[in-house]
Amino acid sequence: GPALLFVKTSQGKEEGRRFYACSACRDRKDCNFFQWEDEKVSETRLAAREEYNRNRQPSFTHRQNVDRYKDFVLLPLSKRRFCQECQQLLLPAEWEKHSDHQFLCDITTAQLKSPSQLLYPLENKKTNAQYLFADRSCQFLLNLLMDLGFRRVLSVGTPRLHEMIQSRASQEEEFSVRSLLLDIDFRYSQFYREDEFCHYNMFNHHFFGGEAARETCRKFLYEENGERVIMVTDPPFGGLVEALASSFKKLMAMWKETEKEGHDNKEMPMFWIFPYFFESRILDFFPSFSMMDYQVDYDNHALYKHGKTGRRQSPVRIFTNLTPSMIVLPEEEGYRFCTVCERYVSSGNQHCEICNSCTSKDGRRWKHCVLCKRCVKPSWFHCNNCNCCTLQKHSCEKTHVGCFVCGKAGHKRSACPSLSRT
Ligand code: SAH
Ligand code: ZN
Ligand code: ZN
Ligand code: ZN
Ligand code: ZN
Repeated sequence: GPALLFVKTSQGKEEGRRFYACSACRDRKDCNFFQWEDEKVSETRLAAREEYNRNRQPSFTHRQNVDRYKDFVLLPLSKRRFCQECQQLLLPAEWEKHSDHQFLCDITTAQLKSPSQLLYPLENKKTNAQYLFADRSCQFLLNLLMDLGFRRVLSVGTPRLHEMIQSRASQEEEFSVRSLLLDIDFRYSQFYREDEFCHYNMFNHHFFGGEAARETCRKFLYEENGERVIMVTDPPFGGLVEALASSFKKLMAMWKETEKEGHDNKEMPMFWIFPYFFESRILDFFPSFSMMDYQVDYDNHALYKHGKTGRRQSPVRIFTNLTPSMIVLPEEEGYRFCTVCERYVSSGNQHCEICNSCTSKDGRRWKHCVLCKRCVKPSWFHCNNCNCCTLQKHSCEKTHVGCFVCGKAGHKRSACPSLSRT
């Protein structure tokens, strides 16, 4: 889909030069598209790019994959193969072509119903960053949105949640939740119909399936018979917040337009799952959102998973525009309700009388600094040189690398002043 317009700034210079680059791949190794904004592109170069793009199209269309799936499920177990190298379901006529590839055989219906287990996660940090929810977290999310009365879930980059919903819907008769998956990972088109999956880029709101796919999404967002919709998204954490926010606003607008009365100025309910250190960035774009204390755990993320030896703290949280008091967090996992803040908080998150809020972001007990006039991490101390709280081990005002959150020099992500807007 369309490239994004970036700006290259060099230190000391006010204005930088603008260029277009790929929206989805944040590493030029994955996609080398680069073009200065004011550059004249020759016919030859344009043709070469078009040729390059044509050659990199998936070997089957979504339609073809749906037909192939129908053929595949008719095969006896002994003839159901999945090529691990090509990440593709194979029909017997294709075995030959994949004869020197690794493959799995006897693919069961259960396996077809959980593609996120069959496909290997695309962990490339700069592009897909596919980190799958731990079962506990996925279950929690689904129960939560069901308790809140939602019957439709727009799953944007949440294949595992989509899969859990789909497989329960096919197994339990009373289960009435439906899901539409929007994801850039085209491998999923082998397992889902066009009304269950749209190939979508969340950094530029591009539907690869064109108007028909957009219409599928629009239809899904239309709340028939009072079936309420919620959008749940878990984007790659390296993604640009402004690009994501702009796409999510377009999805929200799509929801709004389905209703003639415009939903009385309401917003489409949303869960945006993202690390807590992006809180201020998200609130910049969505002031109606608040961050929940719930720690989202992952299966294939070494740092963010619930280990055997006690709990590792995950920095990933739920941001939502629903009323915080409605988001009930599990007491058996140590969350409690703060009656002053009117929301569920981590057990270690103490209500600070001075801030008049439960201030911890990471689940540990934070301490109030009277000089900074705010609560800070337990490991920080107030440095009189820097005039703020920071890690004990730091060289005063000597951090030259730009901060990961705001891009300014002088501090690291963990000490970013923009993180403490409240
Ligand atoms: N925790 C989620 C997965 C989140 S990982 C779950 O278990 O369901 C991020 C997801 O976003 C992946 O599925 C990845 O394929 C998708 N993704 C990455 N870049 C994307 C883009 N540009 N547009 C749409 N989806 C994208
Ligand atoms: Zn409180
Ligand atoms: Zn405080
Ligand atoms: Zn301080
Ligand atoms: Zn200092």
